[in-house]
Amino acid sequence: MTGLTVIVIPQPTVNGPLHIGHLSGPFLAADIAARAARLRGERVLTLAGIDVHPNYVLTKAENLGMDVGEMVTKFRTQITTAFELAGVGYDAFLDPQSEAYRAAIPKILGELVDNGTFPMRDLILHRCADCGRTMHHSYVVGKCANCGSGANGLSCEPCGSFTSAQTLVDASCARCGGTPEPWPVTVPVIPLEEYRDRLVGQWMQAELPGRVRTVLEHYLYVPLPDYPVAYPTNWGIECGGPLAGMRVDFPTELGISYLYGPANALRPEATNLAEWVGAWRDIEDVWHFNGIDNAFYFAILYPAILAAAGISKPSMRGATVNELYLLEGQKFSTSRNHALWADEFLAAEDAELVRLYLSWDRPDRYESNFTDAGYRAFCAWVQPLLAGDGATGALPVELAAAELERAEQALHLVGFDSALAVRCLLNALSTGTGRDSVAMAALLGR
Ligand SMILES: [Zn+2]
Ligand SMILES: [Zn+2]
Repeated sequence: MTGLTVIVIPQPTVNGPLHIGHLSGPFLAADIAARAARLRGERVLTLAGIDVHPNYVLTKAENLGMDVGEMVTKFRTQITTAFELAGVGYDAFLDPQSEAYRAAIPKILGELVDNGTFPMRDLILHRCADCGRTMHHSYVVGKCANCGSGANGLSCEPCGSFTSAQTLVDASCARCGGTPEPWPVTVPVIPLEEYRDRLVGQWMQAELPGRVRTVLEHYLYVPLPDYPVAYPTNWGIECGGPLAGMRVDFPTELGISYLYGPANALRPEATNLAEWVGAWRDIEDVWHFNGIDNAFYFAILYPAILAAAGISKPSMRGATVNELYLLEGQKFSTSRNHALWADEFLAAEDAELVRLYLSWDRPDRYESNFTDAGYRAFCAWVQPLLAGDGATGALPVELAAAELERAEQALHLVGFDSALAVRCLLNALSTGTGRDSVAMAALLGR
């Protein structure tokens, strides 16, 4: 029997509902891949969940003037409704609001600190000289040291680099505009450099898109950081024992949840690190679905946490990433209310058609673009085909531009797929357009 593959569907942060851009990225793709694997007879275990502990959640509630608990309940319901309506299934749900999860995460962290795997180190973190907040994640803003784009303390959206108050250029407090004040602390870290050999081994073996490899290449030439796994701040799961007063760093929480989640699903009676690690005996590897901007986390931090915990097999088999999805030519934006909320859209539409359209137009290799006219034309074209009336024929002309764009994108050196390009070109030609396209000239050798 083949080994079990864990498929990670990332946990959405509960600072808003899912929009269809999110859905078009990791969520539908992971569900489709998991279903296809099962139909081939492969063994997969899908992990989904929600993410309550990034301080983006508290920031959002404060900006909305809402009680954070009420806000989390509201968005959590919208997110899980969207999963249900879209047919996004899972074998285990990582629920940071459940007692068992809230006990297990600091327990695993505490054991790794106690046995010296996560050593205590003297670090300089930063806090705001004016409001006193620990400057991490949504509390800090500055410029990416790698590409100069504006970023918070998590990662840089355009280039995928790791960012923190310590690495951002011209950092300031994102909440009050205050100045960062160096803050000597003694906190537990994962010394990522100690995992270099195992990480590089996994990077060599894993199926990773070029853009992920570009992020990783940077770390072939610079040391991997001592990454703080817990520190004093005002949001996140509280630690106990010798770490009292600190809270679990939220990406560390996610990394630990990818150890705990499958272990708990396979062996619910386990209650300590050795038993949770033991439950991994049957697991062959892990496949991540995620946005390109999270590459540092799914390709460095999470595999290092599994290795630190004692999972000895190469654990990262690969990652499927996506770019941003556009809405009528512009980025989705909650603040400008330029969004189509997944739960509302799915409630009003046929979920099977939404799954098909978002897959047909998936922003996998470039930023593709949702248009209402395109979606409506797609539905009118596809519905008779799904009903078995295959003779209804040609692609609607509204969809020709998207087919030609995909054909041309499929002819780039990276991700070259001429079979896909031919299919897209033929569809476009069936509308009477595309004879002057790049794809036509290249494929026909004109
Ligand atoms: Zn401040
Ligand atoms: Zn950058």
